[in-house]
Amino acid sequence: MAEEASSAGASDYTQTEFALHVGKATLRATVQLPTGRTTLTELLPILRAMENTIGDQVAAEAEAAGSPISCRAGCGACCRQLVPLSLFEAEAMTEWLKTLPEERQARVRQRFHEALSALRDAGVIDRILDGKWMNDEATNTRLNLDYFYAGVACPFLEDESCSIHPMRPLSCREYLVTSSPELCKDPGANAIAGVPLPVRLSKTLFAFGRHVEQDQRGWIPLVFLTGWEKSGGKPGDHVAGSGPEVLQMYLRELEAHSKDEDEEA
Ligand code: SF4
Repeated sequence: MAEEASSAGASDYTQTEFALHVGKATLRATVQLPTGRTTLTELLPILRAMENTIGDQVAAEAEAAGSPISCRAGCGACCRQLVPLSLFEAEAMTEWLKTLPEERQARVRQRFHEALSALRDAGVIDRILDGKWMNDEATNTRLNLDYFYAGVACPFLEDESCSIHPMRPLSCREYLVTSSPELCKDPGANAIAGVPLPVRLSKTLFAFGRHVEQDQRGWIPLVFLTGWEKSGGKPGDHVAGSGPEVLQMYLRELEAHSKDEDEEA
């Protein structure tokens, strides 16, 4: 899946080339990485760009096959789901939240508070916390449907558009639908047609999260972000090195995961 990264350069940044086999195509990229200490959290802009390139490739293939992606700006039908957020993305988002003007910060935090209250009233929060859904597929599916049917929009959804589009989670980037947006309003009808991605970069972040937290999941529901922030967690500090070293660690884990998934398939 992933080939070794190779680096060249001096000074504070170095140019690194790498290749990633994505379905029938190979993604080759050259990126500038810091030579000094870098954390996996600080590598997120590169992973987001990789995920966008994979998404573009998959969208082009779907279009060529006559089933173009129907997801559009202004359609937030899927933004009422339980969104898995890696711990590293949670760290980056909490840092970003702190940089917002106080008034905007307060508005965002209030929306998280309201979303959590509504999900608690719908009985969903207690079921997330009891953890039973993690070990049983039917319970997991039921919880995800009930979360959606509670109709609670993601706190970052504004006017049915993502207000954090450039830094939205990898999980959101990986959800690509070819069926009518109307069908997204009822996932329980099993009529939504999605495009399976050849590789899901989010899963590798979850794997790192499991190592760091010794936790079965390695991610948090996005709606828990402001609660998680209070823990003061800095998961990126546990996966650090020079920029090229951290990229290599990530690519190796991605490769190991992809092999596991191929064997399971
Ligand atoms: S982060 Fe953005 S894309 Fe993801 S669920 Fe929230 S509003 Fe939708």
